[in-house]
Amino acid sequence: MDHFLYHDGELHAEDVPVAEIAAQVGTPFYCYSTATLTRHFRLFDEALEGMPHLVCYAMKAASNQAILKTLAGLGAGMDVVSAGEYMRAKAAGVPGDKIVFSGVGKTREEMRIALEGGVRQFNVESEPEMAALSEVAVSLGVEVPITVRVNPDVDAKTHAKIATGKSENKFGIPIARAREVYAEAARLPGIKVIGIDVHIGSQLTDLEPFRLAYQKVAELTEVLRADGHEIVRLDLGGGLGIPYERSNAAPPLPTDYGALIRETVGHLGCEIEIEPGRLVAGNAGILVSKVIYVKSGEGRDFLILDGAMNDLIRPAMYDAYHDIVPVREPAPGAEPAKYDIVGPVCESGDTFAKGRVMPHVGEGDLVAFRSAGAYGAVMSSEYNTRPLVPEVLVHEHQFAVIRPRPTFDEMINRDTIPAWL
Ligand SMILES: *Cc1c(COP(=O)(O)O)cnc(C)c1O
Repeated sequence: MDHFLYHDGELHAEDVPVAEIAAQVGTPFYCYSTATLTRHFRLFDEALEGMPHLVCYAMKAASNQAILKTLAGLGAGMDVVSAGEYMRAKAAGVPGDKIVFSGVGKTREEMRIALEGGVRQFNVESEPEMAALSEVAVSLGVEVPITVRVNPDVDAKTHAKIATGKSENKFGIPIARAREVYAEAARLPGIKVIGIDVHIGSQLTDLEPFRLAYQKVAELTEVLRADGHEIVRLDLGGGLGIPYERSNAAPPLPTDYGALIRETVGHLGCEIEIEPGRLVAGNAGILVSKVIYVKSGEGRDFLILDGAMNDLIRPAMYDAYHDIVPVREPAPGAEPAKYDIVGPVCESGDTFAKGRVMPHVGEGDLVAFRSAGAYGAVMSSEYNTRPLVPEVLVHEHQFAVIRPRPTFDEMINRDTIPAWL
């Protein structure tokens, strides 16, 4: 469910007409709804009610500080995967003890930054990383709580680029080697084992892979406890999918997911952490773009938009589907049209949809990409020297630009010319 609905024939973001934002900000731009962000965070939080827990928003999905502050105000922790994200979370006012540091290639410098600023735990992904973390912690005179990310060798049944829980993926340590690695962790100074971490992938639309993974984590908890480790926290990762295509069967809800967690690991008495990203931010954001031209091709019409793959790369990168709807509500019973929907970038990959059946739109009309809040703006670039796409946050009848569009000068003047030229 989201808060982008038609009222009086116009698409609104909460109580604000999207066209009004477009008139002020220009296109393309991302627009987020505070109400949807809030609703989605609460769904997860409530799904874990009764168990000690912390929902750590995976901020790589959408990391604008205004979004982080909105979620942190509701009690969210953050899952970060780089020093930059760590510092951004801190800048948004998230305390260190609510920040979990994940990621397969943390550098010593990143470790130092997080240890100095305070961190809830590190999710360690390899033995060399563990050794490095131990060294850095000792050099700073601190003890850092850790979990080890285990790779349960479970098929998440999602797009290959976002599956992370199979043995061929680079993530975590093979669960079969966990006892060995935990024994090593117990020997190392400066680190303190507190739990287990698992994250098997993104855009999962079926609970079964989660069930298999969490059952393995439950078994491992017992084994490690018998080995003498104190396992008090389970970080169960993120990955719950969202309905990109409204005609498809709806993916499981956070409540179903919460029930599954209770069922598989609830008896262990551990504090539960989850790291949802996509489901919190995905349907909380749209990308608004304008039709530049409608061009007739051979056997097809091209809808050429002012948004492009540099603004939203998911279709090019993951073959992702996004609903694309006109901002002005189509008349009831109007004949649909069929378009190849493309951006202006000089690549055939700059195609959002082929043969898409949607209401007729014409030059100058606004369209909105639904479900674009996650892995949208954060993956945008200035490819083709197109200004970085701006972001807007709506709250009831108010809206604010939360990342302005750079001017051409700002963009171009970032280059520095060597003295010899
Ligand atoms: C990307 C990621 C997440 C979030 O995944 P979503 O599919 O956006 O929920 C959570 N944890 C880790 C470690 C990740 O890398």
